[in-house]
Amino acid sequence: MLDKVLIANRGEIALRILRACRELGIKTVAVHSTADTTLKHVLLADETVCIGPPRSQQSYLNMPAIIAAAEVTDAVAIHPGYGFLSENADFAERVEESGFIFIGPKPETIRLMGDKVSAIKTMRAAGVPCVPGSDGPLTDDPEHNARLAHEIGYPVIIKASAGGGGRGMRVVHSDAALFNAVAITRAEALSAFGNDQVYMEKFLEHPRHIEFQVLADSHGNAVHLGERDCSMQRRHQKVIEESPAPGLSDEERQKMGQRCVDACLQIGYRGAGTFEFLYQDGEFFFIEMNTRVQVEHPVTELVTGIDIVKTQLAIAAGEQLPFRQSDIRWRGHAIECRVCAEDPKTFVPSPGTVSLWHPPGGPGIRVDSHMYSGYSVPPYYDSLIAKLIAHGEHRGAAIARMNTALHEVVVDGISTNIPLHQEIFQHSAFKAGGTDIHYLERRLGLK
Ligand code: ADP
Repeated sequence: MLDKVLIANRGEIALRILRACRELGIKTVAVHSTADTTLKHVLLADETVCIGPPRSQQSYLNMPAIIAAAEVTDAVAIHPGYGFLSENADFAERVEESGFIFIGPKPETIRLMGDKVSAIKTMRAAGVPCVPGSDGPLTDDPEHNARLAHEIGYPVIIKASAGGGGRGMRVVHSDAALFNAVAITRAEALSAFGNDQVYMEKFLEHPRHIEFQVLADSHGNAVHLGERDCSMQRRHQKVIEESPAPGLSDEERQKMGQRCVDACLQIGYRGAGTFEFLYQDGEFFFIEMNTRVQVEHPVTELVTGIDIVKTQLAIAAGEQLPFRQSDIRWRGHAIECRVCAEDPKTFVPSPGTVSLWHPPGGPGIRVDSHMYSGYSVPPYYDSLIAKLIAHGEHRGAAIARMNTALHEVVVDGISTNIPLHQEIFQHSAFKAGGTDIHYLERRLGLK
C-alpha cells in the first residue's frame, strides 16, 4: 500500500479521503490555506502544510506550493479530491514528473476527457451513444452553422468545449438567434476557460441526468457500479442524487454499464470515473466524463457496499481490482441531500460560525461533513458543508429515513438549504420518482 498521501483539497472530501487513508494505515498530509487552519481534517492529519492565502488561486490551485509540500513531507502520492486541480491534466503531469503518484487517470486521459469535443469523438468511436450534434468544433461560418442546426433540429445548445460547473452553455431556438449565441458563448468560454472552442448539440427538452460509476485498474480490469440519478438540479448543479435511478430496468443498467466498461478498456482508463448521460424517452446520450471521485459517490457506496475512495487508493498503489463485475451486487436504495451554507430562498451564500451542529443518526443514515459546533464556514470556497445520505431496503424506505433525518438535523448560526430539502421531500412528483432536470427550477418558479 501507499506509505503517505497528500490530500490536495479541503472540506468534506478531504476528511473523507483522510478517513479512507486511516483505515488502510496510510499516513496523511493536509495542505490548507490560511483561512482553513481549523478545518476538521487539518486538525486530524498526521502532518499539515500551509500553502498560501485564502484565495484558491494562491492556495488550492497553487501547483508549485502543493508539489513542494509533497516534497518536504515525503508523501508518495497526491489525492486531488473533486474540483480544484482534480481534472487539471497539467497538474497530474507535474505531479508525475516530480516523482509522485497522481491518484487518478493518466494525464493524457484527463486531457482527452477534459475537452468535451474530443471526449464525445472518443466515446462515439467506442460505441457509446452521444447527443446528436456538430461532431466537432463549430467554425465561424454562419451558413454552415445554420445548416448544422437545421440538420440537428431546433432547439440546439451551444456549449464550450472546455466548459464545466454548468457554465458556458446557451440554448438557441431559431436561425435569428444563432449567430449571436455562438459569438457570445465563444467570448464567454475564452474569458472563463481560456479556450474559445464551442460545439453544438440537440437541446433535449425533458431529459433526466443519469450517470454510471466505473472503476478501472492498471492491469486491464474494469467494472461499473451501476448508475445514479442526479436530475434534481438548479443552475445545472446537482442538489439531490440517488441510486438506483427510479424505473431503470436491470437490462438497461447492464447494457449501458457494459458500454462504459468497454469504453474504459478501449481508452486505457485508470481509477474512478463517471460517464454522464442525459436519458430521455428510454434512450441514453453521453454528455461528458468526469475523471475523478464525485460529490455523490456515497449513494453508490451504500447500495454496492464498495468503498470507492479506498479502491482509488488501491488502484494508485498498483493493485488489481479486488472484485469482478459478477461479484457486484446492488442492495436497496440510497439518496443524498447536499447541504449548503446558503439562504434556502435566495441561494445567497451564508458563511459564518456554526453555533450548534447536531447531525442526524439512526439506521441507514450516513453523514459526510467537516462541520462541528464552533466551526466557522469561510466565505472563499464552495458552500457545501454536509452531505446527508440515507439508505433503505427500497426507495420509499430511504425517503422515510431522509425525511426523519431532515427534521432531526440542527445547524444554527448560519442559513442552510435544509428547508428546501424538507420541502422537496413533500413533493408528490419527487416521491413518485423520475422527474427531469428542469423539474426543480420549474417548481421554484425560476423557469
Ligand atoms: P458541465 O461540465 O458544466 O457540468 P455538462 O455537459 O455536464 O456540463 O452539462 C451540465 C448540465 O447541463 C446537464 O446535467 C444538463 O442539465 C444540461 N445540459 C447539457 N447538455 C444538454 C443538452 N444537450 N440538452 C439539455 N440539457 C443539457
